[in-house]
Amino acid sequence: MDRPLAPCALAAVCVLALACSRPVRLGADLVITRASIWTGEPLPPGATALAIIGERIVDVGGADAIEHWRGPATTVIDAEGRRVIPGFNDSHVHFVDGGTQLDSVDLKDADSPEELARRIGARAKAKPGEWILGGEWDDQRWIPPRLPTRALIDDVTNGTPVFVSRYDGHMALANAAALGRAGITERTPDPPGGLIVRDENGNPTGVLKDAAMDVVTRVIPSKTPDERLRAVKRAMEHAASLGVTSVQDMNPSYDDIAVYADLANRGELTLRIYAAPMETGFYDQAKIGIHRSFGSPWLRLGAVKGYADGSLGSTTAYFFEPYADAPDTRGLLSEEMQPIEHMRTRLMAADRAGLQLCIHAIGDAGISHILDLFEEVVRANGDRDRRLRIEHAQHIAPNDFDRFASLKVIASVQPYHAIDDGRWAERRIGPERIKTTYAFRTLLDKGVRLSFGTDWPVAPLNPLLSLYAATTRATLDGKNPDGWVPGQKIAIADAVAAYTRTAAFAEFQEREKGTIARGKLADLVILTDDILEMPAARIKDVRVLTTIVGGKVVYQRRP
Ligand SMILES: [Zn+2]
Repeated sequence: MDRPLAPCALAAVCVLALACSRPVRLGADLVITRASIWTGEPLPPGATALAIIGERIVDVGGADAIEHWRGPATTVIDAEGRRVIPGFNDSHVHFVDGGTQLDSVDLKDADSPEELARRIGARAKAKPGEWILGGEWDDQRWIPPRLPTRALIDDVTNGTPVFVSRYDGHMALANAAALGRAGITERTPDPPGGLIVRDENGNPTGVLKDAAMDVVTRVIPSKTPDERLRAVKRAMEHAASLGVTSVQDMNPSYDDIAVYADLANRGELTLRIYAAPMETGFYDQAKIGIHRSFGSPWLRLGAVKGYADGSLGSTTAYFFEPYADAPDTRGLLSEEMQPIEHMRTRLMAADRAGLQLCIHAIGDAGISHILDLFEEVVRANGDRDRRLRIEHAQHIAPNDFDRFASLKVIASVQPYHAIDDGRWAERRIGPERIKTTYAFRTLLDKGVRLSFGTDWPVAPLNPLLSLYAATTRATLDGKNPDGWVPGQKIAIADAVAAYTRTAAFAEFQEREKGTIARGKLADLVILTDDILEMPAARIKDVRVLTTIVGGKVVYQRRP
C-alpha cells in the first residue's frame, strides 16, 4: 500500500482537508464504473460504481456518488454493464496439492483403466525414476466401475515409482516399485483406519485406502522448497484466473505455511490464505498463543483441521448402516478417531486454546460423532463465538440438522461433489440416504450457515462450476438435467453468498471481506455474464474477466 490509511479512508480525506488551508480532494486509485454490483449487503441497492484507495473500498453507490472520487491519477475500469461481485473465497482447498497437480499426470478424465495405464506409461518414459504422483483417477468413469490394479501399470513403469490418488484423495494406486520401497507385502497388516486392498490370494493389488496410504507417503521424498514455491505460484495464478481471491487451506504442512509466510513478507501473495494444519499438531499453535484468525489480511493461522472418516467414493465414509453395494462394511473411522477419546482430548484442548475446529465428516455416523464431540466441547469450555465447522457434511442423518443449527456449526460444503458423486451415490447408499445428501436447501432452511468451497484438487477450483452445481444439481453424466434430488437446489444469490459472505464468516473475516462495502478489502471479480440473471444451466460457461485483490488487478482475461 503506497498511502497510509486511517481506519476509514474517508476519515483520511477529512484529516488532509483540515490540515491544509484549502480543501484537498483525494482521488481514488481505482474506480469501477458502469457495473452491475452485487454487494452482498442490504444497502445500497442497485450500486453501479465503486472507488478504491490502496487496498480498500472507500465508496460504493451510483455513478454520480462515485464520480467525485475520480482524480487525475485515478485508474478507471469501465465494466460495460457487467456483473461485479466480491472475490470468491474457497472455504476448503489443498492448495499445494492443487498447484502440484497442475504440473503432474492428469488422470481425472481417463475413461478406462487402459487409458490410465497409457498416461502413466508416457509420464514414466518422459521422466524415468521420478515419482509419479497426483493423478486424480476416477474409477466410476469406467464401464463397469472397478478399482485399478498395479498389474495394469507395472510393465509400463519399470522401476519408476508410482503413487497416484483417486480424485477424492482417500485411495491411491501404487505400483510394485512404490510398494517395494514402502515394504508392503502380503504379510503387511491393515493399519488402524486404513485398508490394503488384496486379491484372492491375499496379495496387495496396489490400491491403498486412507491410513494405509501413509505407509507409502512416508517414503516419498518431500518437495524441495523450490518445488513447493513453484507449486504455490502455479496455484495462485490458476486461482487468479478463476476469480478466487481467498482460500482456506486444509492440512497444509508447516513447510507449505513457511512458503506462504515468505511470499507474504515479500508482498508477493496474490490471494489471501487462512491455513488450517492438522489437528494432531494443535499444540504447536496453542503453545505460542495463536488462536483463530491470527495474522494479517494476507495470511492467517489459528484453525485446525481433522478427519472423522474417509470418503463415499472409497467406501470409507462412516455410516450407521452398511453400504448398499458393499454390505460387509459401513466405512471406517479415521485413525485420529481410534479411539475417539484421543480425538476428544485434543479437540477440547485446541478449543480451550481458542483455535477454530474444522473437522472432515462425510458419513452420517461420522458427522454424528463430530456433533457429539462439539456438544461436549461447548459444554466443557462454555459458550463462545467459536464457529465450529464440519467439512463436507455430506450425508446428514435427518435428526442431526437441528443439532447443526443449535450448535451453530458451519457446514463447509463442496457443491461440485454433488454433481460428481450424484452419478453413482444412490447405488452406493440407497434411495433413502440420498434424500439428505448434500442437503444445501435443508441446511439453509434450518438456519445453518453454508460456506462453499471445492476441496481442490478433488474438484476443479473454478467457482462457477460450483455455483452451477448448487443451483442445478445436474450430474456430470447428463442423466439428471432437472437436478439430482432437485428439492435441494438453492437460489443463485444464496450460492454466491455462500462463496463470499459466509465463507468470510467461516474464517472470522466478515468485517474485512466477503461483501462490497466501504472500508472492506477491495477483492472483486468482474464476470463476462450476469450469473444472477441467467438460466442456471448456463452459469458453468461464464468466465472471469477481471480479478482484483487488495485493489490490484491480478488477472485480466484477454479478449
Ligand atoms: Zn479436503
